[in-house]
Amino acid sequence: MHYLDHAATTAVLPEAAAIACRVMTEQFGNPSSVHKMGIEASGILETARKQVASILNAEPSEITFTSCGTEATATAIYGACRRKGRGKHIITTAIEHSATVNTVKQLEQEGFAVTWLQPDADGHISIADLRAAIRPDTILLSCMLANNEVGTVLPVKEFGKLLKKKAPNALFHIDAVQGLARIPIKPKLWNADFISVSGHKIGAPKGIGALYIRKGVHIAPLMLGGGQERGMRPGTEAVPNIAAFGEACRIRLAQMQKNYAKVEALCAQLQEGIAQRFPWAVYNGKSDMPHVVNISFPGCKSEVLLRVLEMHDVYVSSGSACAKGKASHVLAAMQLDHTRIDSALRISFAPSNTPEDVEALLDALEEGVIRLKRN
Ligand code: PLP
Repeated sequence: MHYLDHAATTAVLPEAAAIACRVMTEQFGNPSSVHKMGIEASGILETARKQVASILNAEPSEITFTSCGTEATATAIYGACRRKGRGKHIITTAIEHSATVNTVKQLEQEGFAVTWLQPDADGHISIADLRAAIRPDTILLSCMLANNEVGTVLPVKEFGKLLKKKAPNALFHIDAVQGLARIPIKPKLWNADFISVSGHKIGAPKGIGALYIRKGVHIAPLMLGGGQERGMRPGTEAVPNIAAFGEACRIRLAQMQKNYAKVEALCAQLQEGIAQRFPWAVYNGKSDMPHVVNISFPGCKSEVLLRVLEMHDVYVSSGSACAKGKASHVLAAMQLDHTRIDSALRISFAPSNTPEDVEALLDALEEGVIRLKRN
């Protein structure tokens, strides 16, 4: 199997799976219970909180566990915008994940004014456009750290500085789901008030995320219930997933540089192979991260090409896994023409990939492209 769709999700690390299994079957107490089993579960929770805080360069008390990246993002955006008497203007970008796009659209329907910053043809968002968008009543800037479809990295440090200078009361949310364990996360340097992350992109199970909330920032939770997660996220904590997430953060933090170099080499191998075998193919966006490569083979519909690759046990995607076959709003915002959008493939690496995976992809692409061109 040659799995090259790690921006959609990735395998659970064996160490993370082992911890989750142990917590599920042996250390299964409820962290709110006051007996020994509960205290043990609570200890597991706090260890994981420290591990997640460590990869986020944050304090453990600034970490709230959620069910996924989407919930973390919704908590931050709704929480920031529903603070009373603050203003009605939100700034976001047209290349956000649907977790942000649809939450902001909902607020737009509720009467908030929204500025959607547009990318250039490479998939970058400009600081000048943000400067022009900030208003005295701006309450929130929500943008991603790294784009999940084209791999561009947004200038969050400059964005944060500018926002706090021009609208000191506005809050800054960063969706760092695709940047986690790839790019060092620096909440203070970036002036971030909220940072969303997700476990299943870095080797934890699906169904676990976290939200960094800067100390001193107070927002209302999405749900009411018990007092778990200091009332920010009621509901009995998913301790097995949380423990696995902590372990994945610990491992991926320790290996971050080594993993980056490995993925960089795989990306270079892919680009070399593409240049030799498909010099007519076109890259979509100027990816700033070697983990994500978006490329079109004009004339070869991506849905059909995906099936041919699948027959060779090679797995990539045609865009965001959450968009399931819908034309990419990111490529559309970059104003690429339809032939390019319809033939786009997203190839995304993890450190577990090998040069053989890249060769298998190139061979399968060659056969697929020849077959589709012939038809
Ligand atoms: N944000 C980005 C950039 C993503 O790539 C994803 C997942 O694909 C999410 C948010 C949503 O994360 P989750 O699947 O944990 O809800």
